[in-house]
Amino acid sequence: LLRKLLLKPSLPQFPICRTACDIPLKKYDVIVVGGGHAGTEAAAAAARVGAETLLITQKIQTIGTLSCNPSLGGVGKGQLERSSCLGPPAQLDRERYRQFIQTELLATPRLTVLEGSVEDLLLSDPNPDQPGQHRVTGIRLVDGGQPVSSNSVVLTTGTFLSGSLFMGQTTSPGGRIGDPPSCPGLSHSLREKLGLRTGRLRTGTPPRIVKKTVELSLAQIHPPDKQPTPFSYLNKKTHCKPEEQLPCYLTHTTPGVERVVMEGLRLNSHIQQDTKGPRYCPSIESRVLRFPGRSHQVWLEPEGLTSDLLYPQGLSMTLPPELQLRLLREIPALQRAEIQTPGYGVQYDFVCPTQLSPSLQVKRVQGLFLAGQINGTTGYEEAAAQGLWAGVNAGRTALSLPALSLSRTQSYIGVLIDDLVCRGVTEPYRMFTSRAEFRTALRPDNADLRLSPRGFEEIGCVSAHRYEEAVRVRDSLRDALSALRSISMSSTRWREKMGDVNVSESRSTMPSALDLLQYNGVTFEMLASAFPECLSMYLEFSQRLKIEAIYLPHCERQKREMERMREEESLSLPLDVDYFSLPISLSQEVREVLDHARPHTLGAATRLPGMTPAAIVHLLNYVRKSG
Ligand code: FAD
Repeated sequence: LLRKLLLKPSLPQFPICRTACDIPLKKYDVIVVGGGHAGTEAAAAAARVGAETLLITQKIQTIGTLSCNPSLGGVGKGQLERSSCLGPPAQLDRERYRQFIQTELLATPRLTVLEGSVEDLLLSDPNPDQPGQHRVTGIRLVDGGQPVSSNSVVLTTGTFLSGSLFMGQTTSPGGRIGDPPSCPGLSHSLREKLGLRTGRLRTGTPPRIVKKTVELSLAQIHPPDKQPTPFSYLNKKTHCKPEEQLPCYLTHTTPGVERVVMEGLRLNSHIQQDTKGPRYCPSIESRVLRFPGRSHQVWLEPEGLTSDLLYPQGLSMTLPPELQLRLLREIPALQRAEIQTPGYGVQYDFVCPTQLSPSLQVKRVQGLFLAGQINGTTGYEEAAAQGLWAGVNAGRTALSLPALSLSRTQSYIGVLIDDLVCRGVTEPYRMFTSRAEFRTALRPDNADLRLSPRGFEEIGCVSAHRYEEAVRVRDSLRDALSALRSISMSSTRWREKMGDVNVSESRSTMPSALDLLQYNGVTFEMLASAFPECLSMYLEFSQRLKIEAIYLPHCERQKREMERMREEESLSLPLDVDYFSLPISLSQEVREVLDHARPHTLGAATRLPGMTPAAIVHLLNYVRKSG
């Protein structure tokens, strides 16, 4: 049914409503609150799986806004876009990106967008048979308090939940500069009515600099790629033409920068707070305090193709504006710099994510899903990845389909969500390749093969076009690998055939073309020109085949470990079990850990901090006996 719905040529309905009176008075399947990176993905995904979806966000014009840097991807980030391990990065045109996201949403069938602010959640009366369990039934808007009903709600309020902005000694309520925070009613409901544990985190952004006031000749130019690679497998080229691209520039802080930071410390309330900030994109104040006497890199990134502004990556700061200007001017390339908007910090509430199930549904509130910065993560990509998954599951729940989870063995999104719900966060969570056990299998070149078939066949959130392309690639790669395996000969004959290639003599078997492709300096093109009749038809996949060949031995070694993890993840733990009275040998500490986290599977239990190998064995025996 879902596939039919997706394939049915339906005219985009995309109503955009500026006031609550304009929205169709009906019960929605899914309401998504917030139009940031998590919210836009959640709304699009819920609509794609077949749910009538309403996206409510404070300002339609800020849908898809990049709150901080004009870039996506990079190590630990690009792998979420492609669920890959190499992390391809891209510099973005902030304005074009926002417009592109808005156009995409407008063209999504079954999706209505409403400009408005959500004041509170609507909840059904608690079920007397299940004390502490709630069900969400919709939301209430501010200004008139109009209720809108739905089966599921996805909250993606980012840095807006009880948000406060900091600059120097000035603090003001806000979720982002120019935007008010979320209504206090929402935080109150989450904490007081639903009893959810929340915490407080912070982040910050640098001043934006007027480009024409920067001495770019005093910085080191970093030209863009001659042939940029698009993120999407479906795009053969990037939206921006190669010749249109702009360079970035590298410069460094000086001892003068450190002096200004130290001088301004007593005037800098944000930095004096204990609230934890993002460790891996720290403010210049944190960098100076942690590493005194060092010079730090500063990347000057264009904000867009026609923008007059530069974003100084590495100079996030919350000093008073006059000190921000003094600090910038301590850097030779910025000695005459003018600031368009000063840097500032934001502190906000997050919901401790161990209270969520792997579908991103709040365990004690049926139908309520959380995604993005509200779960304690930082970054556009982390938010978008969660939004996608929360949207899929909110849509499925509303359509009475079972919720789904993604395994750590299958995708980086699976790793991210598993880390959040099993381990929780003590500081803003950022994705790294090192967080994945099987990163040689989770690669940029095979993300489409790992996830597109499941997205189409099981979930219905992938288009037929994307699926068909993934299947074509999968089948061609399988045939190409088998052709490479079928060509084998002695090392001596290989040396004769391939010239300079130093084929190892120590092999007991005859090396195949696939073995040879693992060698440095051997390309698929070389093999295809030696054996054109068997290989030339696969030239389109040269790069993917080379990568496949290099990683093949690692992946083979990891297979058993992956199987073990998959098996553990298939062993469900009952959610209502009383761990304190379970008749198996577990320490009191382990019982407390299990009672607190209530893991869904044995696999999730093994990853809880405080679990011991002995406890896992006892739990495994218990699951096997009871299941
Ligand atoms: P957001 O992008 O914040 O979107 C939230 C959306 O919800 C907004 O559209 C808002 O209008 C809407 N909303 C909120 N409450 C309501 C309501 N009650 N009703 C209706 N709509 C509502 N990340 C990094 O990785 N590195 C950094 O250095 C960095 N610096 C940052 C600096 C600042 C000042 C800010 C604000 C963010 C920074 N980030 C940084 C974080 C990055 O921007 C976020 O991780 C990402 O945008 C989170 O996406 P999100 O969808 O969860 O929330």
